Amino acid sequence: MKQYEATWPEVGALDRDTVVLIPTGSIEQHGHHLPLGTDSILATAVAEEVEKAIPDKVLLTPTVWLGASGHHLPFSGSLSASFEGYDSVLRSIILSLAAHDFYRFYIVNAHGGNTEPNAVTLRKLRMENPNLQLGSIGYFHFIDQSVFDATLEGKRKGIRHACEAETSLMLHVRPDLVRKDKVKDDGLEPQPAVPGMVWHFDEVTTDGSLGEATRATAAKGETLFNAAVSGIVEAVSGLHAGVQLVETEY
Ligand SMILES: [Zn+2]
Repeated sequence: MKQYEATWPEVGALDRDTVVLIPTGSIEQHGHHLPLGTDSILATAVAEEVEKAIPDKVLLTPTVWLGASGHHLPFSGSLSASFEGYDSVLRSIILSLAAHDFYRFYIVNAHGGNTEPNAVTLRKLRMENPNLQLGSIGYFHFIDQSVFDATLEGKRKGIRHACEAETSLMLHVRPDLVRKDKVKDDGLEPQPAVPGMVWHFDEVTTDGSLGEATRATAAKGETLFNAAVSGIVEAVSGLHAGVQLVETEY
């Protein structure tokens, strides 16, 4: 069920084992060729497809479109919540529905900058509310490395930013929003490579994107999109069925 389109008695009548699915995105620069809403558009598209596949198991909230995007702010039009503000919105959504006795919440994230904030908010909520079942993961997690390897032609076999993968996904979901005449490869390599550094995007790109967007196609996007959706459908169905913790076999 889509919360945004439902009435309160319809939500009230739902089984409380229903998994509340919360897409999180951003409004931030995605180079010259993708719109500011790219992450929110992709989070919404993936989550809506999941809801369509298993409507009876899911209560889909509207997408949290304001993300933690401080590292993109030098680029015009980018928005960022403060970490405190972002935390407050996410916990408000979860605690409101928890007050209506929903207890299973699963965040499908489309913006790398939300990864740690989502995790911190859920960690805190779980400490305060041990009865809640909480999870958060990027949709890209469900695209197996073998799928990335078989699908992408560029050097980087994964999601970067407005890259081959993300541009392909947008060509599949909203081709009308891709500025095809502006697509170009972009990105600086920090040398020597020092893992774990916190970079702002104006330090590592000139135009705002990172990767080989010129290799993007709608067909690649469709493959990646379908892999993400089927992975999330499986995960959410598992959560809905009830996760048991069993002894590990070694
Ligand atoms: Zn993005």
